Amino acid sequence: MQAVMPAVMSAAMSPLIPDYWDCFALDYSGAREKFRLAAQAAGARLCAYQHPEQLAPDGSALSIDVAHLGNPAAAKQLLIVSGTHGLEGAAGSAAQIAWMKSGGAQALPADLGVLLVHSLNPYGHQHGSRTTENNVDLNRNFVNHNAAYPQNQAYASLHEKIIPDHWTEARIQQADEAARLYGEQFGADALYNALASGQYSHPDGLVYGGSQREWSNRTLETIVQVHLEHARQVGFIDWHTGIGDYAEPFFLCFNEDGGKLQARAASWWGADRVLGQRPNGMARPNYQGLVFFGLQEFLGDRPVVGAVIEFGTRGLGTRYSLRLDQWLRHKSHLHPDPMRDAHLRSDLLDAFVPVSNSWRRSVLRHSMEITQQAIAGVSAW
Ligand SMILES: [Zn+2]
Repeated sequence: MQAVMPAVMSAAMSPLIPDYWDCFALDYSGAREKFRLAAQAAGARLCAYQHPEQLAPDGSALSIDVAHLGNPAAAKQLLIVSGTHGLEGAAGSAAQIAWMKSGGAQALPADLGVLLVHSLNPYGHQHGSRTTENNVDLNRNFVNHNAAYPQNQAYASLHEKIIPDHWTEARIQQADEAARLYGEQFGADALYNALASGQYSHPDGLVYGGSQREWSNRTLETIVQVHLEHARQVGFIDWHTGIGDYAEPFFLCFNEDGGKLQARAASWWGADRVLGQRPNGMARPNYQGLVFFGLQEFLGDRPVVGAVIEFGTRGLGTRYSLRLDQWLRHKSHLHPDPMRDAHLRSDLLDAFVPVSNSWRRSVLRHSMEITQQAIAGVSAW
């Protein structure tokens, strides 16, 4: 592990971690309110990009909220996104709020701005799903929709088997067996790639990348144009959950392997965390359409250094939850049972944002440190 602790986080000056119940909210609306209040208190320039069609069940707005802290005209900017995967946004939102509540904005160098994008996929966050209003995995949507889509024949061969019509113990075991047989035949890495890399053929399936740019995708481009107009170099954190050891951060850096920008990310957060990472112990899937790739395109020749940063929950146990998310979206209405669905929904949320106080406190502690490391890194860039 490299010594990457920036000066602003020396032991004597480490900010106190805010109480987790002040940072985590119970739902999207609560998260939005906490975010906006913390941003106002921190002196942010705050604006909202309201969804043109979708509303919360109570009729209130669904929006992506944007808070700009520090110097918005600085050439050096750090972009921090939460909620790319809808419900995972409860954790990313808390990380953003904790950093603001701890006085992070007040300690920024004069030549740096921090742009917080809250709940990039507000529909998923509101409705307790990882995907968008069109069931799109937003982190697979940033492909060229005018070109032929990447093929994922392996997923196509598994789709019918792994998302059964009935969510019963017997059918879940059959689905597990189908996945196990595929892994036995082609290897665990191939199975992981089939289920995680992205697919563009099954709109009611896992990691569906969509058939057009999602509203969240187009809005992120607008946000970059409007708020990062003056940026010349951009640091990037995209908060996620579900990969890695329980309550520990796990880094997925998509800068070119072996390149200078990847080395820079490693210098911020530690080479042992950034280089050669194997998500859940597997070879990294050939991810398609990541937000990171979209951001690179939106910024053109201006470099971006950063990572998806996950917080581990149930390891490979989240496979069950990813399928459950799809089943609840597409199949649960076939056999209505509100009590069952309430059980399943609470389990799905807990699979990605555990209720446990130790998990949530760990997320806040790590995320505040990782944010400070990124700030120090962008500042020194
Ligand atoms: Zn995610």
